[in-house]
Amino acid sequence: MMRGSIGGPRLMLRRLRELMAEPTNPQERLDKIATLIASDMVAEVCSVYALTSDEQLELYATEGLKREAVHQTTLKLGEGLVGRIARDAKPLNLADAQRHPDFAYRPETGEEAYSSFLGVPVLRGGQTLGVLVVQNRTPRNYEEEELEALQTTAMVLAEMFAAGELEALVQTDVSLALQRPHHFTGFALSDGLALGHVVRHEPRVVVTRIIAEDIAKELHRLETALRHLRASVDDLIDRDKFGPFHEYREVLESFRMFANDRGWAQRIREAIHSGLTAEAAVERVQNDTRARMLRQTDPYLRERLHDLDDLANRLLRELVGWSGHSTGSDLPADAIIVAANMGPAELLDYDGERLRGLILEEGSPSSHVTIVARALGIPTVGQVRGVADVVKSGDAVIVDGLSGELHIRPPADVERAYADKVRLRAKRQAQYAKLRDKPAITKDDVPITLLLNAGLLVDLPNVTEAGADGIGLFRTELQFMVSSTLPRINEQTSLYRRVLDTVTDRPVTFRTLDIGGDKALPYLKLQTEANPAMGVRAIRLALDRPALLRTQLRALLRAGAGHDLRIMFPMVTSLTEFQAARSYVDRELIHLARHDRPPPKSVSVGVMIEVPGLLWQLDELMAAADFVSVGSNDLVQFLLAADRMNTSLAGRFDVLSLSVMRALKGIADHGRKHATPVTLCGEMAGRPVEAMALLAVGYRAISMAPNAVGPIKSMLRALDLNALETWFQARLDAGADDLRQALTDYAADHGIPL
Ligand code: PEP
Ligand code: MG
Repeated sequence: MMRGSIGGPRLMLRRLRELMAEPTNPQERLDKIATLIASDMVAEVCSVYALTSDEQLELYATEGLKREAVHQTTLKLGEGLVGRIARDAKPLNLADAQRHPDFAYRPETGEEAYSSFLGVPVLRGGQTLGVLVVQNRTPRNYEEEELEALQTTAMVLAEMFAAGELEALVQTDVSLALQRPHHFTGFALSDGLALGHVVRHEPRVVVTRIIAEDIAKELHRLETALRHLRASVDDLIDRDKFGPFHEYREVLESFRMFANDRGWAQRIREAIHSGLTAEAAVERVQNDTRARMLRQTDPYLRERLHDLDDLANRLLRELVGWSGHSTGSDLPADAIIVAANMGPAELLDYDGERLRGLILEEGSPSSHVTIVARALGIPTVGQVRGVADVVKSGDAVIVDGLSGELHIRPPADVERAYADKVRLRAKRQAQYAKLRDKPAITKDDVPITLLLNAGLLVDLPNVTEAGADGIGLFRTELQFMVSSTLPRINEQTSLYRRVLDTVTDRPVTFRTLDIGGDKALPYLKLQTEANPAMGVRAIRLALDRPALLRTQLRALLRAGAGHDLRIMFPMVTSLTEFQAARSYVDRELIHLARHDRPPPKSVSVGVMIEVPGLLWQLDELMAAADFVSVGSNDLVQFLLAADRMNTSLAGRFDVLSLSVMRALKGIADHGRKHATPVTLCGEMAGRPVEAMALLAVGYRAISMAPNAVGPIKSMLRALDLNALETWFQARLDAGADDLRQALTDYAADHGIPL
């Protein structure tokens, strides 16, 4: 009966280890490996193919086929048996290979003499790097042990590839697949461009010790690591006991199931028995999982395989004693973090000076880490499935936070193009920086107030750095969203106090909690709604459950001692609702006085205009409110019935459509009539064309993201506002529905930078 190999897999591994240690050149080593495998497996042929970055499988070494075919014979990915193994990341075991429909004949190899064929992919981190094949003249099926022996040998080869040893053998200017560039398109989560080098948040453990010295010792190491792993998973589940994240819990439960899966542990033990170290055995079994994962089309099963893969990573870390990534001075100066997902605190752990970008396999526009990344101005791309499988720490990478594109190991021309873009942006940024201390005043001397949108302490330095006139919108829900428990009154007070103490000389407008709907808080049970944007959110939730609002108002009033305090309410639908909300402020003021606490110097109470219904109550509203602020993100989504989060509606969510501009003008006109200050704090305020339109219809104060202040200031300083107003009014009166184009042309004709 045939066995896996003559002396058993252990003996072959020992010989391989000796070969790897021999001081020789890579080609000779590869040739000797092929000879060794052929003789050990009693095969007439053993060939090694390497996958190049242009998706060709090139014969790199052979025992048995014609030598002159080495570095000459190539097959495309998917072509022939070898191409198929590489494409599917799956072995092929055939008694009569030439009968197989995929067999591709290459006369230069002399392959016609051989019938039986066993080929396995050379895998690393789920990526195919090449193919290892043995062949025999007589038709026969290879045994399971032979297949396993060949797979184990392929791991040793994978290490040779990974160590870069084979790069020396590359004959053309095409590199090996390990270095292949990759392009991904994900979700643009935080604006900006970054070129840098990958730092894996949870790096894959690089297994360097493959061949076991002492099998019993390796088995013991495995059992210890498995015990620790199970305990740590139990611990994770216990810690999450009160968490409402059912999905997360499900993941953990499936973790626990896998951690206790006997089949999984048994396969690892068997791999150790074949002569591998514990970590190499884990990786060997993990390679199978990853190959299955690549082929799996059922999303649920794919996820479960992903969990198993995660678990194998944890086990590897247990085995090699990895104790956390570096976040400080040994981080590259241009670090781009790659993670499956992470919490906001983990991102803040990294040295901000060295952080250039963030790539997440998961992540959504409203996830906490995204909010923090945006606040820190870190270009971020999310929902990039599979990226972690192809990157390793140190890889060059480009993050385009505008388009959601990623270039891993970019070709030189792509890198040059992006480097140019980054330089251009930096140049513009430098020009904007020069504008910082210049007044925001139009060419015809109309002063414009430029405010910032903020919500976290990390935002505060931006006020002075951007040269803004204050904070026009402080989104208080962000503190609640990045916290894992409900912030208590003292925590809220201390945050608001720090904001007011930092931005002393300029106004800050706090918006009360805008939660509910899709802005969920883990610790607050809310009803699931079919249409959350129009559900029980913001002020509606506050009025239905006033305890939250009262606590927040109390915290704001305490923090406001000695300051001019500005509070506004989100998503108000009617005057009555505003009055009800305002009455809580009055009640809390009385409470404050009763407790002899020092009051704010002044308290102004405003309202956000986000619900179209308010447009027909503007006279009453302007009379009742101390100020108003237009939340154009919500107002426009409701005016145009176009979900602001739905990217396929982006073209229909046009803030410069005629109806929107007329509505916005109506608000500004009513403000002037009642001498009630009006600002606008939606995203449109930060885009030059849109901001130009806002100025044209009467807005004199707008609030935006910090990096928008420069471009907006540069636009308005070149603007003759009086002339623009007259021209724009004529367009509105004429019912023109091409306002975006008209404004762009106007700017070009009048030398206004956009
Ligand atoms: C808005 O709706 O325009 C706004 C500023 O509020 P948010 O984006 O937080 O909903
Ligand atoms: Mg809003």
